[in-house]
Amino acid sequence: MSSIETFLSLLGDIPVQTVPALVKRKSRDFYWYSPILKRQLDSCFADCIVMPRNEEDLLKIASAARETKTRLTPRGGGTGNYGQAVPMEGGAVIEMTELNKLLWVKDGVARVQAGMNMLDLDRALQEQGWEVRMYPSTKRTATIGGFIAGGSGGIGSVRWGGLSSPGNVLALRLMTLGKEPEVVELRGEDARSVLHTYGTTGLITELEIGVEPVVNWQDMAVSFASFEEAAVFARDIALQSGIQKKLVSVVDGDLPPFFASLREHVPEGYSLVILMIAPAGIETVKLLATKAGGKLCYEANTRDMENTSGATPLYELTWNHTTLQVLKKDRGYTYLQCGYPADGTLDKVAEIRALFPDELMMHLEFFPMGGHVSCAALPVIRFTDEDRLNHIIAEHEKRGVNIANPHVVTIEEGGMHRVASPDLAAIKTRYDPMLLLNPGKMFSARTLEPQD
Ligand code: FAD
Repeated sequence: MSSIETFLSLLGDIPVQTVPALVKRKSRDFYWYSPILKRQLDSCFADCIVMPRNEEDLLKIASAARETKTRLTPRGGGTGNYGQAVPMEGGAVIEMTELNKLLWVKDGVARVQAGMNMLDLDRALQEQGWEVRMYPSTKRTATIGGFIAGGSGGIGSVRWGGLSSPGNVLALRLMTLGKEPEVVELRGEDARSVLHTYGTTGLITELEIGVEPVVNWQDMAVSFASFEEAAVFARDIALQSGIQKKLVSVVDGDLPPFFASLREHVPEGYSLVILMIAPAGIETVKLLATKAGGKLCYEANTRDMENTSGATPLYELTWNHTTLQVLKKDRGYTYLQCGYPADGTLDKVAEIRALFPDELMMHLEFFPMGGHVSCAALPVIRFTDEDRLNHIIAEHEKRGVNIANPHVVTIEEGGMHRVASPDLAAIKTRYDPMLLLNPGKMFSARTLEPQD
């Protein structure tokens, strides 16, 4: 019996999938966004998929994995875009989507199972007068556990900052693979230390998150003849404390033609500011847009669009969806994730645009930073080769722009700290001493020896 067969034989009645075509499909995410990761991960597949229905099943899977030294890669919606959920050393993919209940919500705090779909979660919260503070533009497909383990921020970040900002994730329940697999409850700083660790430090079963009172958001798009005017207006809206907003994005004039749902509303070559605004702010935004030389070219109710099959809420043109809209038409592009400093932000954006006029289409997402407003940029880039991409990265870094590189698989190299972290290594040693969880994704674990 192979060790995978032994592993499966220990699982009792836990649902499993071994049909090769299905196993291959569930071994994929959106890693192909990066031509470099595509080369690296195209041949990586799991041996089987396991589908726990509850924590008890998960405990059985963890114990069987330890006994047979089977690698485990958790998976939510499979929308990670740098290979976070691609199993690099075979083994089992754990499909977490059956752990999908909102457990409770009160006083602005919600407790939820990790495999719950983000849209389902938002709808369940709305029934009780709340909504999620922040979601990725993949809300319709992603899970809350996958967002917290693989994402960083998104729609709502203009108000609440990133996932790792204190107060957004309050606690999490983690199944660890120590000597005896066990479930631990981590709160505060301890919980924050395992955010964005791609499931390499444990399997999240439940989360406690901050939520906010539900708002009837309005999608608004304002067009501008120049990118500079659009960016100044967007930053002003982001700074206005009297206007409640969930999203403030800017895209270069070359990008709207890629947006099937919006392009007919946007004059050719015009840049766009994409907003989600609370009802009380709509009139003011319209006045400010006119004053700034912009033209409101589209508006719709966000939830009407979200709840209509085939319709595109504006947030699906923002964050990492901007790149997807381009890739749907032309696979010759890729992208970067850049953190601009709060000081001189728009000057630096202008400098970068001027350096690469023919290969970089600028896209900004505004969010708070250290008491100021700054922006992340996710520019869409015409891909030539790895050397050219590295040159573009270097030119950003020379100007003090941080790059969270989406063309590498490890947490550390993809984040802003490209060195091995003793803290991460210590967590790994404690919670996964046999190094079975999502192997290959933690740079700091490369020098560790597996311990039984
Ligand atoms: P998966 O892709 O299934 O998993 C992500 C990572 O988490 C993997 O490493 C996986 O092993 C791990 N994981 C999953 N579930 C668990 C669990 N229960 N316990 C432990 N580890 C687990 N990201 C953003 O931050 N903001 C965005 O706005 C955004 N927009 C995107 C747009 C597009 C078009 C695409 C393709 C990606 C985007 N992403 C974004 C990246 C990704 O969609 C998000 O991070 C998303 O929330 C991941 O959720 P998921 O359920 O699909 O996770």
